[in-house]
Amino acid sequence: MKELLAFIIGACFGSFANVVIYRLPRNKSIVKPGSFCPKCRRSINWYDNIPIISYLVLKGRCRYCKKSISLRYPVVELLMGVLTILLYQKFWTAELYCTFLFYFIFTLGLVIISGIDYETFLIPDVIVLPLIALGILGAAMCKNFFMPQKAWPVLTSFSYSLSGALIGALIVLLLMIMGKVIWKKEAMGGGDLKLLAAIGAFVGWKGVLVSIFFGSILGTIISLALIYSKKKTWDDYVPFGPYLAIGAILTVLLKGNYLFSLYFIP
Ligand SMILES: [Zn+2]
Repeated sequence: MKELLAFIIGACFGSFANVVIYRLPRNKSIVKPGSFCPKCRRSINWYDNIPIISYLVLKGRCRYCKKSISLRYPVVELLMGVLTILLYQKFWTAELYCTFLFYFIFTLGLVIISGIDYETFLIPDVIVLPLIALGILGAAMCKNFFMPQKAWPVLTSFSYSLSGALIGALIVLLLMIMGKVIWKKEAMGGGDLKLLAAIGAFVGWKGVLVSIFFGSILGTIISLALIYSKKKTWDDYVPFGPYLAIGAILTVLLKGNYLFSLYFIP
């Protein structure tokens, strides 16, 4: 029952994430006007704006112009719903309320960044820079003010968080230099640098290494599959942000897991 509530709240935040993913790269206000169909511009009634359900009821088409609604809408809503259940089970039920909030905001930020990076190949500063600050400050504040010491085994501390941000940024900087010198190609961009700094700030320096490890494996497998199936070529640009985001979320969810800790994080 509580899981259902977590799912509904998560899906509503997913709906909000969709608005940001669409409007931010187009320099449109997040709050005004209300939701509208991007194709016929008619405003959407509340009953056509219910996460996941409305998409199914409308069979993926706008009520008025019948043009198809991007699959991104229900996918992001479903994803945020499921991730919120997993975060709830891991942190909230263990009475780590502050940690839950900390990683919920992190996850929401990563989903928005991934959506925008996937569609525009850009990672917006207005999302990623506050996320870096929040990760470092949140780690320090949660530890000192909001949480009892005993409830601390899974999170980072101020120094762990700061070193995570620096190491995350440093790795991308090295890859960027190597890309320029060896492959004469832009391997990664400044957006990836800021994103890995944000990930490091939330999961610490060990966690950022694990996130890169997961992200690289996943990115390589999916890229090879796309090239093999002729959907992409070797020269196409692949946004790395979504893979890093999945790596980071996996790191958060697996942290403290016994099998996982044998290999990665003690
Ligand atoms: Zn329409």
